Amino acid sequence: DVVTRFAPSPTGFLHIGGARTALFNWLFARHHGGKFLLRIEDTDRARSTEAAIDAILDGMRWLDLDWDGDAVFQFARAGRHAEVAQELLAKGAAYRCYLTQDELAAMRAEAQEKRVPFRVRSPWRDRDDGDPAAPHVIRLRAPQDGAATIRDRVQGEVTVQNAELDDFILLRSDGTPTYMLSVVVDDNDMGVTHVIRGDDHLNNAFRQRALIHAMDWREPVYAHVPLIHGADGAKLSKRHGALGVDAYRDELGYLPEAVNNYLLRLGWGHGDAEIISREQAIEWFDLAHVGRSPSRFDFKKLENLNGHYIREADDARLAGLVAPRVERRIGRPLGDAGHAVLVRAMDALKPRAKTLDEIAEGALFLFETLPLQVDEKAAGLLRDAPEGLLADATERLRVLTGWNAEDIEAAVRETSESAGVGLGKLAQPLRAALTGRTVSPGIFDVLLLLGRDASLARLDAAHN
Ligand code: GLU
Repeated sequence: DVVTRFAPSPTGFLHIGGARTALFNWLFARHHGGKFLLRIEDTDRARSTEAAIDAILDGMRWLDLDWDGDAVFQFARAGRHAEVAQELLAKGAAYRCYLTQDELAAMRAEAQEKRVPFRVRSPWRDRDDGDPAAPHVIRLRAPQDGAATIRDRVQGEVTVQNAELDDFILLRSDGTPTYMLSVVVDDNDMGVTHVIRGDDHLNNAFRQRALIHAMDWREPVYAHVPLIHGADGAKLSKRHGALGVDAYRDELGYLPEAVNNYLLRLGWGHGDAEIISREQAIEWFDLAHVGRSPSRFDFKKLENLNGHYIREADDARLAGLVAPRVERRIGRPLGDAGHAVLVRAMDALKPRAKTLDEIAEGALFLFETLPLQVDEKAAGLLRDAPEGLLADATERLRVLTGWNAEDIEAAVRETSESAGVGLGKLAQPLRAALTGRTVSPGIFDVLLLLGRDASLARLDAAHN
C-alpha cells in the first residue's frame, strides 16, 4: 500500500514550492488509494515557530490537502531517534567519535589546502579505546567502497561513489539526533513507501539510504522533483512570487482550486490539458510525467487559471470571499443588504476579473456615497457630454414605473435616439456619472445593480 508524506520544517510560511510538494504527495496517495501523512520537522528548535506551524496547517487546509491521521511532530520523537542510534552503535554500524572541534577544523583546513572536498574521515572509525564519558558524537559507519545507485522515479538512475559519502553524525554530543537520522527513522516508523520531495534533497537520499541499509529497513521509492524557478530561469525568490500560500489567498485573492491547478501543471503534465479538475488530477497523476527540468513560475498563467475558476465559482461563495475586501476599502460593514447586492453583482463583475481583489475593486462603485469620487478621465467625459444629454436620460429613467432590465434599456435607448447620438456616446458619460469611473460592467447592469434611488441621486448630482 502506498504511503506518502509531506515533511515541512516550520521555519517559515508554507511557500509555493512546499505546497507543490504537498500536492504531489497528496495526489499520488489519493491516486493509489493510499495514505498521505503529515510530519512537522520541528527539530530545529531555534528556528521552528508556532506561527509557522499554524501557517503550514492553515495553508494545507485552504488547499484542501487533507492528511490521514494526526500530524506527527518530529521533535517529540527524539527519544526514539536516539534509541536507533544506540542500536546502530550496538551492532557496529555506527561508532563513537571523539574528534574535537579543533581537530575537525584542522582537517577541514588541510582539505582546503589540498583542494579536495572535505569529508569527515574519523580515526575513531577504527578505534574503540575512547572514554564514553568524554564528549563525543555518534557517526554512521558509512560504506566506503563501491557505489550506490538510486532509481529515482523522476531523476532516473543516479549513481554516487560511496567514497563520496562521509561518516555523517547521527547523534550530536548533546545527545540530540540529527535531521538525517530523524527523517530515516520517522519514514520507517510511519511506513512511508514513497518519498516525493524537492531535488535539493537528492544528495541526502544517498546518506539516508546508507542508514536505511544499516538498519535493514525497506528502502522507499524516491522521486526528487526539480525545484521551481522564476520566469527568468533563476532560482525562485520572493521577487518571483515565492510568497507564502497565505499571500496568494489574502493579498492577491486567488482561489485554492486555481492555485492547485497551477501547482499541478508546474512540473507535471497530462498531454496539453491546462484546466484539470481535482477528480481528473487524482485519476491522472503519476510520477512518470513529472518533468526533469525546473519549471518556471508564470504569474500570467496563474492569473488566467484564477480567472477561469472565478467564472466557474458559485456567486454566493465569491461574494463571501469578496465582501471583506470591499469592507476594508469602504471602511464599513456591508450588512445584509450590501451583501445581497454583491451576490447579484457577481455575474456582471466576474467576467473581467482575474483575482478576488479585482472583483472587489470593480464592486466599489456599488457602495460609494455622495459626493461620488470621480476620477480624472471620468470627469473629462462628464465635461464633454453633450448639453442636456444626461438630464434627458435622468428624466426618462425617473418616470419609469418599474426598475427592471427591459425598461431601463428602453429608456436609455430612447435617450440616445432622440438626441441622435450613438449608445456608446451616451453610455460613457452615464458610466462616469454613475460610477465615477470609465471602466465598469455594462451600463444597464450598473443601473440595475445600483437601483433606482442611488442611480437617480448620482445622475442628479452629476448634471445639476
Ligand atoms: N524537512 C525537510 C524540508 O523542509 C524535508 C525533508 C524530507 O522531505 O525528507 O526541506
